[in-house]
Amino acid sequence: MRPSRPMSPLERELRERIARDGPIKVADYMAACNAHYYATRDPLGVAGDFTTAPEISQMFGELVGAWLADLWERAGRPEGAAYVELGPGRGTLGADALRVMRKAGLEPEAHLVEMSPVLRRAQAVRLPGATWHDDVKTLPDTGPLLIVANEFFDALPVRQFDAGGRELTVTAAELGFLRWGDATREDCPAGRAIVAALAARLARQGGALLIIDYGYDRPGRADTLQAMSRHAFTSAWTAPGEADLTAHVDFAALAGAAGEARISGPLGQGAWLQALGIEQRAAALIRAQPARAAEIEAARSRLVSPDRMGELFKAMAISATGWPEPAGFAR
Ligand code: SAH
Repeated sequence: MRPSRPMSPLERELRERIARDGPIKVADYMAACNAHYYATRDPLGVAGDFTTAPEISQMFGELVGAWLADLWERAGRPEGAAYVELGPGRGTLGADALRVMRKAGLEPEAHLVEMSPVLRRAQAVRLPGATWHDDVKTLPDTGPLLIVANEFFDALPVRQFDAGGRELTVTAAELGFLRWGDATREDCPAGRAIVAALAARLARQGGALLIIDYGYDRPGRADTLQAMSRHAFTSAWTAPGEADLTAHVDFAALAGAAGEARISGPLGQGAWLQALGIEQRAAALIRAQPARAAEIEAARSRLVSPDRMGELFKAMAISATGWPEPAGFAR
């Protein structure tokens, strides 16, 4: 099939691949789309395609930094701890978190796992002196790892299966692409592999992995693959690589990949931020800048309200067994 409209290089490449090898797996389609999407733009913020918690307010990164500093403090302030972020976006979360950590006497090196050259450049502005990695395998293997992943796991490719256990595939169509079948189950092997690798590091080196993302805490959701462009849902099957493709995170599956590590949560982002003191942090910011009171209050509400990001987004911590219990998860 040869559509007469202009075609992006990625669309042409996918069409050629399908013509040559036959239908491709949904996971391979998603991986190809997102690699192109993130490599070619900064998608964050009002002018982009979606807005993340650290871009809404400094309170988010500050509370994450305070959470890490508290854990490190109660672990006996071990030497040589590294701050690690998976998919750090613009580096905003890291900058806010590290500012708070430094005030607590924790001055870790920053190690960033990021595939996008465009976003690496943005991160270098906010996190000068950081070290970049293509893969978690090359993270330092000496001290404890204090690892944060906000809206990272949702971007990793999912495999989809129908009720008969057949894997769903994607083929070329007149306009864009077509997915065959109805998904009743998803699996994110890339996410499970990253958690397994990091949990093994935590067991040897100490530390914790904080995962914040939208998703579900019980298995059973069927088709959660979605495409987002200019802050609205769009089709995942037209204009490949031009919209953000995500799938809801299966927290139970990630917890299951963590071996012997301690699992805390998942808990709704709203409840978790409230346990860490977001109300007090908002009040302090408003006292310092009364003219910004309405903006700060709106951001707080957006992060914690159950009908905004408070319940769909969840926090889960995976931590070394010898380490103290992470804060904020006691119900
Ligand atoms: N954590 C940031 C950005 C979230 S967007 C925030 O909260 O604002 C997803 C991030 O993950 C981007 O930085 C993207 O480039 C990165 N990313 C997506 N897939 C990746 C992969 N397979 N390997 C490394 N980084 C990836």
